[in-house]
Amino acid sequence: MTSQATLSGWGRWPRRTCRTAPLLAEAPFPGGPTLGAASAITRGNGRSYGDPALNPDMTLTGTRANRMLSFDPGTGDLVTEAGVLMSEILDIFAPRGWFPQVVPGTKFGSVGGMIGSDVHGKNHHCAGSFGDHVNWIDLLCADGELRRCSSEENAELYNATCGGMGLTGHILAASVRLRRIASAWIAQETIPVPDLDTAMGVFEANHDTTYSVAWIDCLARGDSRGRSLIYLGDHADPEALDREKRADPFKLPARRKLAMPLDAPSWALNALTLRAFNQAYYKAGCRKAGHGVVDYDSYFFPLDSIANWNRLYGAPGFAQYQCALPLATARDALLDLLEAISEARLGSFLAVLKRMGPGAPERPLSFPIEGYTLALDFPLSSRALTLLDCLDEITVAAGGRLYLAKDSRMTQRTFEAGYGPALDQFRALRAETGATDVFQSVQSRRLAI
Ligand SMILES: Cc1cc2nc3c(=O)[nH]c(=O)nc-3n(C[C@H](O)[C@H](O)[C@H](O)COP(=O)(O)OP(=O)(O)OC[C@H]3O[C@@H](n4cnc5c(N)ncnc54)[C@H](O)[C@@H]3O)c2cc1C
Repeated sequence: MTSQATLSGWGRWPRRTCRTAPLLAEAPFPGGPTLGAASAITRGNGRSYGDPALNPDMTLTGTRANRMLSFDPGTGDLVTEAGVLMSEILDIFAPRGWFPQVVPGTKFGSVGGMIGSDVHGKNHHCAGSFGDHVNWIDLLCADGELRRCSSEENAELYNATCGGMGLTGHILAASVRLRRIASAWIAQETIPVPDLDTAMGVFEANHDTTYSVAWIDCLARGDSRGRSLIYLGDHADPEALDREKRADPFKLPARRKLAMPLDAPSWALNALTLRAFNQAYYKAGCRKAGHGVVDYDSYFFPLDSIANWNRLYGAPGFAQYQCALPLATARDALLDLLEAISEARLGSFLAVLKRMGPGAPERPLSFPIEGYTLALDFPLSSRALTLLDCLDEITVAAGGRLYLAKDSRMTQRTFEAGYGPALDQFRALRAETGATDVFQSVQSRRLAI
């Protein structure tokens, strides 16, 4: 039943040789929650960028426990095993007029992984994060007991598990609440903005719009720092569609399946090619300014349109940097971050800015806080790692934090500065439930969680 595999997150760095076994759908597990190993972690579909879903002792791979168990069309409550992917939920339920309340930027995450990271979407300002739309979970705890947890039952354990990066136990099943939609289309408005202040003004003026996100040109300098393309969106009603789409409002347009066949040479993404790409992308966005409709797959998951796109960064892999900055300090901190990035002549074509609403303080390791979040990819190099340490200083000084689901290199000091007293609460709960020695990952060891 167990085997060995070299595993990594989506960033393909770090890589570790891990003993692996499939996550079982039912308890008790032979040999306990670690299947007899010294410790274990559950891995969903490995779409976190760094090392939270890696444990050389034992990594339980969750995607085979992927049955959908029940659906209540009266409430929209869907019960699934933890390994079900967002893409599987969308394939079955979107054509029937149901949609998850929160979707991250990839549809290839599993239910267990999305709860484990408490993922957020382009609507955090009005819908919160994934954990706000989960009715209950069944959690296999360190003592081998399976516990039903929710905001009413075993609430502290539930709150610690949402965003707890698999460190409180194995989620075996969950009930998530879906919402109604009237079509597979999004009414989108594309707004090019020349700088950061204008971008933040548009976000602040559009709190009533369900979805908002900005592609930001992280290499733009001077007065153009923060120039962006903002994409506002709402689920479209059939009346807003043209006749052809209205005839079958849930039919998605055919899409060519693209894939990155090989690792790109590491010189491919450099300051010149990135600046040229960003220039062209911004110009193209300016030409598309205004209102239109776009299918939900293109609006929510543009990156998923190219399979294995992470090979674009070459064999060494890449690191994603995602920070959240409090509203009061966000503007100045974002300008400092952008300045440091363009000064270093490093950056990425993939830089995303989102407005976040109030966080969930009852969930100790849940990432979102009220303010702004910036996410950027950097091809792996010692220069990039030095820059990321410098970005940490700016983030910490602004009272911000980094996202564990994207992290592969932050220090314990940066982590503790970002999560503060809630972290002590989380560590205490792990000690009380016996989870500290049982559930571990390469990340939890690096950060002493
Ligand atoms: C292209 C791309 C875009 C993304 N955009 C966003 C975004 O917009 N917003 C956002 O929030 N995230 C985003 N992410 C991150 C992603 O949604 C999360 O990392 C999510 O957790 C991935 O799900 P997974 O099943 O692959 O989890 P994994 O990476 O396998 O695991 C994530 C964490 O959950 C834990 N876990 C997994 N399964 C279980 C289980 N059954 N029981 C207990 N713990 C478990 C793991 O131990 C690990 O700590 C993006 C990722 C990619 C690749």
